[in-house]
Formats: sequence, C-alpha cells, structure tokens
Amino acid sequence: MEGRETATEGQRKAATYIEDYFKSLGLTPGNNAIYQQQYPVFQDSLVSSNIEVNGKKFEVNKDFAVNLGSAYSASMLGSEVVFVGYGISDSTRDDYKGINARGKIVLILAGSPPSTAPANTTNRRQGFNPFAIQDAAAKNGAAAILQVQTNFPRRAAGARGNMYTSGFRRTIYPNTFAISEAIAESIMAGDYNAAKEAMKTGNPVAKSYNANIALDFTKATMKMESSNVIGFLEGTDLKDEFVVITAHYDHLGKRENNVIYYGADDDGSGTVSVLELAEAFTKAKAAGKGPRRSIIFMTVSGEEKGLWGSAYYGDHPTYPLEKTTVNLNIDMIGRIDPKRKTGDSTNYVYVVGDDKLSSDLKPISEAMNKKYTKLELDYKYNDPKDTERIYYRSDHYNFARKGVPIIFYFNGTHADYHRPTDTPDKIDYVQMAKRAQLVFYTAWEMANRNDMLKRDIPLDAQFR
Ligand SMILES: [Zn+2]
Repeated sequence: MEGRETATEGQRKAATYIEDYFKSLGLTPGNNAIYQQQYPVFQDSLVSSNIEVNGKKFEVNKDFAVNLGSAYSASMLGSEVVFVGYGISDSTRDDYKGINARGKIVLILAGSPPSTAPANTTNRRQGFNPFAIQDAAAKNGAAAILQVQTNFPRRAAGARGNMYTSGFRRTIYPNTFAISEAIAESIMAGDYNAAKEAMKTGNPVAKSYNANIALDFTKATMKMESSNVIGFLEGTDLKDEFVVITAHYDHLGKRENNVIYYGADDDGSGTVSVLELAEAFTKAKAAGKGPRRSIIFMTVSGEEKGLWGSAYYGDHPTYPLEKTTVNLNIDMIGRIDPKRKTGDSTNYVYVVGDDKLSSDLKPISEAMNKKYTKLELDYKYNDPKDTERIYYRSDHYNFARKGVPIIFYFNGTHADYHRPTDTPDKIDYVQMAKRAQLVFYTAWEMANRNDMLKRDIPLDAQFR
C-alpha cells in the first residue's frame, strides 16, 4: 500500500481492504448506508511564477522562490521598490521610518540587526516571531515582499505543497518572494552592496528605487479526499449507546527517492488489532453473546498529518458522542520500548488518559487487566507534566476534547519510529496479541456493564 499516505492510492487501497474485511465479518456500514466517511483534503501546486525587473526575466529556483502554502495567486506591476533594511517595525526598531510603503513592493535583507542577535547566528532568538517581517509589511500597507537570500540557485522544490484540510486563514499576508542577490542588484544597483555594509552596524537606511517590476504567482488547488472506515455491530438492550474502538490506518507513504515508510507498528499494529477485535465480537454475537451496547470499529486516516480523520469524526460523528460511553484507541502496540528499564521490560503497555474524564474508567481497566491479561500498566505518559505531550498526539484526543472518556494504548517509541525500517518482521506478535486482548476485555466490560461511564471530571481539567 506504499506506506498508506493520506489522500493517495495506497491509503484508498488500505481503506478498501478494511471495508471488505468489515463486510466479510457481517458488520454493517457505520456511515449511514456506507462504510467510509470521506473528508476533504486540499493540496496546492505551482502553475507559474515570474519576476521581471526592467525588462529582464528571472527564473524560479534559479533566482527566486515562493512558499506555495502561504502565497496567493496574484499578478502585480509596480514602478517603485522600497528598501526597508531588515523589514522590522515593532517596539524595538522601525525600519520603515521616514518612508511610505503603502501599496508598494518592499525589499528587505536577510538576517536581523546586530543589536538583537549575535553575529553569525540565526535570527531564531528567544521569542522570535516567524511572521515579524510579514506583520510589519502588512502594518505598513506593503503590497508584496522581496527578501534577499543568498542560497540561489536552488534545487527545484517539489511542485506540490503540503496537504491541508481547511482553506481558511485568519491572516492573509502580502506575498513574500525569496530573491537572489542578482535580483536585488537589478533593483538597487551599487546601493545593494552599500546596504549590505550598512547592515554590519545594524542601520541600513530606508530608500525608494524606481524600477519597472512585475511579480507573478499562480497556484492551483487540488481537492482530494480521504476517509475513515467505520463498521458497526449492533447491541441488544442498550443498542443506542456506543463503544468506539479506533486505530489509524494511514502512515507516512513514500518519501525521498521513493523509499516506502511501512508503518508496521505505527499503526499497522493498531489497525489489525481493531480488525481482530471486530472478528472476536462478531463471533461472540453469533454464539449468542453479543454486546448490550453497540460497538463502532473505526480506522481513521490523516493521523500522521495532524489527527485529521478523528477530528473530522469528532466534528461530524455518525453516532452521538453524548451516547458514546468510551473510546479505546490503539496506536502502536507491536513493539518494545528500549528505553523502558523498570519492571518487566516486555510484559507491559503504556496506558494514557484513563483518569482524565471519568473516575469509573481506571478501576475497570485495572480490574480487567488483573483478571485476564496481567500486563504491567505503565502510566509514564499519563503524567500531566509529560514533555512529549503524548496525551494530545493520537486520535483519542478528538474524542476527549468532546468529553468522551478515553484510553490510549501505546508501546512507546523506538529506533524504527517514523523510519522506513518500521517493518512487520520486527513486530512482537505475542506481546501485541496480549495488549489487544486487554483492549478486548475492557471493551467487553464497557459494552455490557449497566451504566455508561459517568463523566464526573470537568472537561477543561485535561488541558492543564
Ligand atoms: Zn501513530
């Protein structure tokens, strides 16, 4: 499946495989009449970009570059370019002093004043605002920004930008072109070198230059789709209440030189565990031991892009979240964390989030484990002070933020994490099965106990 990257053919094939599997078990479609819940994904591609100064044409990548994600399609003609030093305009200094940049193209040098950053270091100083230059240009009414950078010519950037799920942007900045020194010289002539010298003292002086300049940027936006795959097993006397079991079936796809990132542990292990749990519960139902509550088996995509699929489900649930007693989410349960030195180094699972929204949940989880699976339940990543912020980093979070109690099952990271070497031969299948069994017993109890989990912990407590 070529690493199952969201909105690619590999992801769609994996979705079809999972859908077919759900069908073969006899699960019914979990999105009205269909199994897949589609959501939109967008991606920009460069159509054309040109810069022309006084009749001389410059080439993209050779002399300039534009960020696909942040720029908008526009053609601009100008007869004046305003040089504004470092392009800073805030409480510390004002490089726009004495010049009117309104409606004009501004040209700025790379770097920052010597007073605010030591020489020969980057300008990523403490509290650095990555949009400081754009903020200043917008505040001063500039039409576009030309920022000199010295690393031209460049290797051609990919013709496509990053994928995203919403075209909404709170702030639209003036288009920013990174330009070569050759373009700067074609505008400022000999003054460019003088300005570079003046940079050393930190005080290049703003100045206006006459130049016939054309700036062109056109991008196309492709609308694509990805999906969550949802199978439904109807309950009996409590069938209008729900248990949701999730894992993400997407991974990183193919990267540089077509290398496949397999994602066997992340999250092939969780995905096939959801399929196994679906099989176990359908067999139980066929044997007359069906769950009282309905069970939703959902594999989501877009996790690696930013929890997109679960976010979409959280905002467009196909079954009411207030009637969803719990979400059990599995993301990586097939490997051993080499950093874990306490207790039994193999017979464990990290349990995250079980005490954040309901005081009922943790005792149930622990009782099931004590009775059946006897794993060491490790709460390391449940610590609110966890610097890796694991609680916020997988799909359960999109249930928790809506108030649904969750448990997240996780084996920790390892040397193959997010590398092409996360392959199926490295999975510890015995351990993985045990962890999946813990999820099964816990889901069984959740589906069959008399009451839904009480939600007795304030929603905002989890954000602290
Ligand atoms: Zn993952």
